[in-house]
Parts: sequence; structure tokens; C-alpha cells
Amino acid sequence: MTRITAIFSDVGGVLASNGWDRHSRLKLVEQFRLDWDEFEDRHELVMTAFETGHITLDQYLDRTFFYRPRDFSREQIRAFMFDQSQPNPDSLRVIERLTATRRYFLSTLNNESRELNLHRIERFGLKRYFTVFFSSCFLGVNKPDEEIYTKALAISQRAPEECVFIDDRALNLDVPKRLGMNTIQFQSAARLESELRALGVEF
Ligand SMILES: [Mg+2]
Repeated sequence: MTRITAIFSDVGGVLASNGWDRHSRLKLVEQFRLDWDEFEDRHELVMTAFETGHITLDQYLDRTFFYRPRDFSREQIRAFMFDQSQPNPDSLRVIERLTATRRYFLSTLNNESRELNLHRIERFGLKRYFTVFFSSCFLGVNKPDEEIYTKALAISQRAPEECVFIDDRALNLDVPKRLGMNTIQFQSAARLESELRALGVEF
């Protein structure tokens, strides 16, 4: 078994709640009494550009909400979006212990818009654990496109076999698995730890 030297982790659904998922959007539509179909159609059209850093949060808000007069403000929507983010303390404790070993290159690999990504890195204190943030908004490409994984491998100068990639969605694990990376589908912090141990990762 090749020794593991690098661990790449998703953020939403692993280390924290999802940043801006369907559940949060449904809650927003309800709270601000919006029309779901009208909002969701617009959201889907700009979501990839938003996540890959091609439009800003303000441009996203212009295209999904403020293309007509509203009785709520940009700040209210922004605050609502940011408030959806909650950490997963159990997963963060696993990562904290991995960091303490100083044995591994630890980075995130996730789909997130720039503003939410920066907010979440700060709010969850992720810079304490991770050296690099392979976020879709910085790389200009999102999961499950092969390019995001090959870029992360090239930038970190790792062979796929010495890497573990963790994600809660099976779809995002197919490509890295095919590239030869070890993969873990996240289910719980306890399972994550035992699956890492099974790959030879030491705590
Ligand atoms: Mg996820």
C-alpha cells in the first residue's frame, strides 16, 4: 500500500453544512415570500458562473433577485445566505488531530463561490488546519469536472495513489477514483477516522 501523504477534503456536507444548497434556498424563498420556479430558474442559469468565480456575489444577487424592485435589501439576502453555514465540530476534531501529527499535506477541494468560501474559511477557522484551498471559485472549474482534480494534484505535486479525497457525494468521487486517488464517501466523523486508518493514515 502506497503511503498516504496528502488529504483533500470537501467542505459542505463534511466539515460544515452545505454553503448554498436547495434546502437553504427553499428556506429563503419561504422567508422572503418569493416564487420558487422564478428564483430557481435564474439560480440554475448562473450557479456555475457563481461557483467558478466568474461572477461576484453582487452580480449573483442582481441576476437572481434584484432584476426588479424588491421590498427587501441586498444586505438581508446576503446575511441570510451567510447564516446558513454551520460547522460540523466532530469532523473538525478529526482534521484537528490530523493537523497535529504534521505528517500530511491537508487541503480543501470544494465547490463554492468566493464570498461564501472566504466567509466559511474564516468562520470555521479552517486556516488552522489546511495549507491550501482548492476552491472552485479560485480554480475556475468545479467538481465533478476532471480538471479540478488534476489541477489540485499538479499544484500539490502529488501522485494520485498517495492522496485521499473525502466528499459526501458519490458523484464527486467517481473521477478521482478513476484517476487513482483513494476516496472516502463521508458519512460520519467516526466512520471517516476508521476509513482513514484503514488506508494507513496515522493519528
Ligand atoms: Mg459536499
